[in-house]
Amino acid sequence: MTEETRKRGFRTTLSHVGRSTKREHGFVNPPLLRGSTVLVPTVAERVAMAAKRGERVLTYGTGGSSTHWALEDAIAAIEGGTRCYVVSTGLAAVTTPLLAWLKAGDHMLMPDHVYGPARNFASGMLAGYGVETTFYRPEVDEAQLAALMRPNTKVVYTESPGSHTFEVQDVPAIARAAHAGGAKVFMDNTWGIHHFQPFTHGVDVSIQAATKYLAGHSDVLIGSITVNNDADWQVLHAAGRTLGQYASPDDCWLTLRGIRTMAVRLQAQMESGLAVAHWLRQQPEVAQVLHPGLSGAPGHDLWRRDFTGASSLFGVEFKPSFTPAATHRFVEALELFGIGASWGGYESLAVPTTGFVTRTAGSGTFAGPVVRIHIGLEDVDDLIADLKLGLAALRSC
Ligand SMILES: *Cc1c(COP(=O)(O)O)cnc(C)c1O
Repeated sequence: MTEETRKRGFRTTLSHVGRSTKREHGFVNPPLLRGSTVLVPTVAERVAMAAKRGERVLTYGTGGSSTHWALEDAIAAIEGGTRCYVVSTGLAAVTTPLLAWLKAGDHMLMPDHVYGPARNFASGMLAGYGVETTFYRPEVDEAQLAALMRPNTKVVYTESPGSHTFEVQDVPAIARAAHAGGAKVFMDNTWGIHHFQPFTHGVDVSIQAATKYLAGHSDVLIGSITVNNDADWQVLHAAGRTLGQYASPDDCWLTLRGIRTMAVRLQAQMESGLAVAHWLRQQPEVAQVLHPGLSGAPGHDLWRRDFTGASSLFGVEFKPSFTPAATHRFVEALELFGIGASWGGYESLAVPTTGFVTRTAGSGTFAGPVVRIHIGLEDVDDLIADLKLGLAALRSC
């Protein structure tokens, strides 16, 4: 990416990144290139290609093609990094860099609210390979994080806000303590997208479940890992190739298509999400709304300092007089909100959180039951009318 691309507005960038009308014979979009074998005219050329590690040369399908590279350029621009590597799922975007930067005998710090399958990977497979993980309270400050660092701490993982209970982390403070102890800072930036610029806040490795807002249409699974210097790129690229990590070109193509309209989707979903969150906050059944973009909500001050906007995923804590089972009736009574995993698509979702998440460091405890809400592109008035049905079902329990 050139400096010129960096300075452009976000909408302009999303419209133009990763494409060359001249290269594509006049067509607006990059082509969808599928393939495994790549033929070369001579053995000498094949040898020369193999020596160009980490560079964009067509050697074999798993090394990617122009379809992958167009998407990788787009995501690097969205996150403000130098290079991006796309992989099959968001979860693979979590596990691949962990395997790249950790080895037997190392220690990792992970926030207690981390995405569940990332926790499972750390406490399951990584533990089996001799990597120890300490789960820390997501709200730690610099001194508290520094106190958790060990001589062998190689990765400090962050996710902000947490995707179920929405604690916002002081990422710059955590990064200072991590770097002082010689560790790399990872971040799952799926909620922040471009609203949180990881590399200007001390992050070294940024992870996106591009399945969510980037693809945006609930029809693709894909993940990305973005870094901001060549040394980190070489480590990431070598690990990705060694592990056989790859994304289908069809999925890359669909994700790039999603990205072209992402800025307007994000804006609309942020506005609708805030409108529904405000409305929910005024309902007598609700104890609090866990949306960092709401003034007075947990994490709001850090969000204002570090983010330029919000996604449309947030939590609702009901009053303690309601049982978790009553919130199950609440989500089941909704007609427009689906009960389902994932988020970032065009459709609204609602899932109970209480009883469905694991915590070992004492974070994320609430007096009342919590439901996670994703706001899609429907009309806000219709969503609120639907939520009224849900609240009626909740009250009748
Ligand atoms: C969904 C999600 C992932 C994993 O993405 P998949 O593409 O579903 O594997 C990782 N992190 C967060 C925060 C997510 O919400």
